[in-house]
Amino acid sequence: MGNADEMLTVARSRSAELAAPRLSPKPRRKVAILSCMDTRIDLFPMLGLERGDAHIIRNAGGLVTDDAIRSLSVSQRLLGTEEVVVVMHEGCGLLGASEDEFAKALAADGVLPTWRLGAFTDIEATLRHSLERLRESRELPAKGEVRGLIFDPESGSLRELA
Ligand SMILES: [Zn+2]
Repeated sequence: MGNADEMLTVARSRSAELAAPRLSPKPRRKVAILSCMDTRIDLFPMLGLERGDAHIIRNAGGLVTDDAIRSLSVSQRLLGTEEVVVVMHEGCGLLGASEDEFAKALAADGVLPTWRLGAFTDIEATLRHSLERLRESRELPAKGEVRGLIFDPESGSLRELA
């Protein structure tokens, strides 16, 4: 049985706890989290979040891509969030990955994407650049609280970008 079948079975058995009939789609804590998709990052317990508190936007690296800005723009302009917290982490798959080799592998399959892999070598410099890009984004009206955090999955520690 594939994962989707199993997932449907689980969800069917939990509909009472999954239902959120009076929960607003507007994040209660007016915050959007942009994080890497890494399996080791469990944002809800890490950040003390409950369902309904925050928008969660995840991609490879937790990078500020055009599509992340699209989602953050919806989050702020349509759904009332005023803060952005970006979560990157030690041991990311994009750390030290090869932009060229990835592009070559895609090209070998006849693909020339408009996006880049987003490989990086310096997590702090990359996160700093991401925060700068967010603070310069006209798409985002609320730029007063833009913070960057780095999680270490080995130790479980979370620190703010210095
Ligand atoms: Zn990662």
